[in-house]
Amino acid sequence: MSLSLTKHPMPEQDPKVRAKNFSEVTLGYTPELAQAEAERCLQCKTAPCRKGCPVEIDIPAFIKLVKEGDMNASIAKINEVNALPAVCGRVCPQEEQCEKLCVLAKKGEAVAIGRLERYVADYSRNQGQTATPLAYADDAQKVAVVGSGPAGLSVAGDLAKMGYKVTMFEALHLPGGVLMYGIPEFRLPKDEVVQAEINNLRKLGVEIVVNAVIGSTFTVDELMEEEGFDAVFIGTGAGLPYFMEIPGENLNGVYSANEFLTRCNLMKAYRFPQSGTPIHVGKRVAVVGGGNVAMDGARTALRLGAEHVSIVYRRSEKELPARLEEIHHAKEEGIDFQLLTAPTAVLGNEQGWVTGLQCVRMELGEPDASGRRRPIEVSDSEFVLDVDTVIIAIGQGPNPLVQSTTKGLETNKKGNINAHAETGATSKPGVFAGGDIVTGAATVILAMGAGKKAAVAIDQYLQEQKASK
Ligand code: FAD
Ligand code: SF4
Ligand code: SF4
Repeated sequence: MSLSLTKHPMPEQDPKVRAKNFSEVTLGYTPELAQAEAERCLQCKTAPCRKGCPVEIDIPAFIKLVKEGDMNASIAKINEVNALPAVCGRVCPQEEQCEKLCVLAKKGEAVAIGRLERYVADYSRNQGQTATPLAYADDAQKVAVVGSGPAGLSVAGDLAKMGYKVTMFEALHLPGGVLMYGIPEFRLPKDEVVQAEINNLRKLGVEIVVNAVIGSTFTVDELMEEEGFDAVFIGTGAGLPYFMEIPGENLNGVYSANEFLTRCNLMKAYRFPQSGTPIHVGKRVAVVGGGNVAMDGARTALRLGAEHVSIVYRRSEKELPARLEEIHHAKEEGIDFQLLTAPTAVLGNEQGWVTGLQCVRMELGEPDASGRRRPIEVSDSEFVLDVDTVIIAIGQGPNPLVQSTTKGLETNKKGNINAHAETGATSKPGVFAGGDIVTGAATVILAMGAGKKAAVAIDQYLQEQKASK
């Protein structure tokens, strides 16, 4: 049998149907497709793919077990290093990570590592497999984890397995961070996938306290000095939206993507009035930005009933930072791409509602500090996009509360916490940090990788503390 140079496609909902519903777009491999895709893996001894995975899953080993039909062993292999495989299999930018380094990518398409990881995780969940509760020593040391996004979840799971008593504090009413409030249901089902994976951590003994805003309910210093925590990990993420600072941004009908997506995902506004949160979306929507957040905003607006949705991005298609799959799906669903276009003002009527987005066309010049070609305005290219809603998705900065209320915690110019790249150690003894709050907005698996490294360092720190007593 000759080796297929392309991945086995994953079944999906029809674009015309899915553009009107919030059910998951991709349906996952069938057992036959998973088997056939697993057959494509060459089981390379050096496993270059592993180096592309921030948590270094033993990719050939888990795929071999799929080939052999031993799913219990396959999920156990993945779970050795990844507590959220059903999430990562769905949302990792695989083309930039594990799959980028797959040897098959040199001649054709990489092995569909993410799809196989998702398949194994979904299979084991559907079989009712869950984590086994752990027993804790009476004198187990206590660790507080601030923020329950991928970084916090990964540090909590690893520390629980090492025998520490972990309490996770989350400001919102549900744990999961961006997995719950940012990434839409149609890409990442909340109850079925995210909460199921988080429940496995609860079963390990991790306590999750919601509606607890650290910096207000307790400060980090209070957690350590009064609440008896021996170490603290901060994984509070990048949830502070940036705005364009152009005229008209305060008009009715302008949203930050953060607010728009939180209303829809966390507060379930798409089910209004059954849910308590309404959302207003007009007929013609412009979403400014080119990353995953922008794609999610645009595709959500479409599902909420918008008739025409445009992505407005100042560089070309090649520079779009979103995952390739999201761009492909957005196009299939009919999202319009206004590339090499930058907004200059939001226009409004006398009642204060948006009536249009004034833009200019751009061309690409020499590369800037980021290595990407700098967009330059084309003279006399001004035009108006006829829209009644504008969603701004041009990036997020660090959540500031913990930094401003913790004594001796150093930050950089942008307000991100300064933490050691390999250990997550901050300037404050016993306090560690990782994920978007340190790196700025990045990816789920990078945040999880930072959590894993921090867990090792926290373990070492606590052992040293114990020995010195
Ligand atoms: P977060 O996920 O942001 O979690 C931080 C948590 O800390 C939040 O729950 C927050 O409420 C809580 N918190 C903040 N302050 C406090 C406080 N003072 N006290 C208590 N809790 C607090 N990445 C991908 O890999 N693939 C994708 O497809 C993808 N799509 C994305 C789509 C959207 C819309 C967004 C916004 C991001 C996307 N990302 C994607 C990026 C990815 O989700 C993040 O990089 C990742 O979630 C960062 O994890 P984190 O744990 O550092 O922070
Ligand atoms: Fe690839 Fe992400 Fe899975 Fe790692 S966790 S193997 S990067 S899909
Ligand atoms: Fe399999 Fe590709 Fe990894 Fe080789 S590089 S082991 S073919 S997934």
